[in-house]
Amino acid sequence: MNPRLFTGLVEYRAACDALRTGGSRLALVPTMGALHHGHQALMRAARTVADRVAVSIFVNPTQFGPNEDFQRYPRDLGADLATCAAAGVDLVFAPDVEQVYPRGDATRVRVSGLTDHWCGKSRPGHFEGVATVVTKLLSATGPCSAVFGRKDYQQLQVVKRLATDLLLPVTIIEHPTQRDPDGLATSSRNRYLSPAERERALALPRALAAAGRAFQAGERSAARIGAIVDAALAAASVAVEYAAVVDAASLEPRHDEQLEPGAAAVLLAARVGNTRLIDNLVLGQDRVPALANETEAR
Ligand code: AMP
Repeated sequence: MNPRLFTGLVEYRAACDALRTGGSRLALVPTMGALHHGHQALMRAARTVADRVAVSIFVNPTQFGPNEDFQRYPRDLGADLATCAAAGVDLVFAPDVEQVYPRGDATRVRVSGLTDHWCGKSRPGHFEGVATVVTKLLSATGPCSAVFGRKDYQQLQVVKRLATDLLLPVTIIEHPTQRDPDGLATSSRNRYLSPAERERALALPRALAAAGRAFQAGERSAARIGAIVDAALAAASVAVEYAAVVDAASLEPRHDEQLEPGAAAVLLAARVGNTRLIDNLVLGQDRVPALANETEAR
């Protein structure tokens, strides 16, 4: 069955309200479209906690910097609707910019602390745009569960914080990162990569796999795990923006020798050619990326 497509806020909100009034539990998967199997995994997870699944598709201008890829970000609503239909999605909300940012728009949501480091530093204003649009999409949907990927690890922490702080009637559900068969985290931006760049990009999951294996083997030192990650990235031709071992909740750097399972994450951002990629691994919790064609000893 094809999902019902809404471009207007009033109609979408009314449909969500009607479903709830009829006794349905609703789950929302917010996306920017260019949907792939990582998004589909979120849709399936949404289905397990709700009777009806909504997907929003909105390339949010306020989370892109002036020199970023807002204009060239891939958009294909027809293909996205087919992907949603295949995943059994009930509603698609694909508003235009004027619906989300009404004339005279003057309000932003800013989450402090969590956004001080990492992508918050390298992409000024990014998380303010994310926090604002997520708040709007959750407000438009009303009481629901909302599913977010751990692929965007810092974003997930920001969303959890704002949902708590703004008393939103929403349960945030997180979903593990989905990877392509070669180990690269699935991303809409992967389609920018040439085959040679894609090969270079595998340095990210390789570095995470090296860190994850060291942790599995008993390494608990943030400094030594950081050194393993740095060495793996130094051997590759990618421009590292940051590589850090951080507290999994606060995202503050960890420097100690006592990393507990599930309490620390490796966060990575790097450029491959013109494409910026991010990836991460929660040590002792996330599956260590499986890498195709890997020759190094395990
Ligand atoms: P995006 O369309 O890239 O803004 O992503 C929409 C949602 O899908 C966010 O919650 C992302 O974290 C999630 N997502 C994107 N790629 C993946 C992936 N490879 N695995 C899991 N979740 C993902």
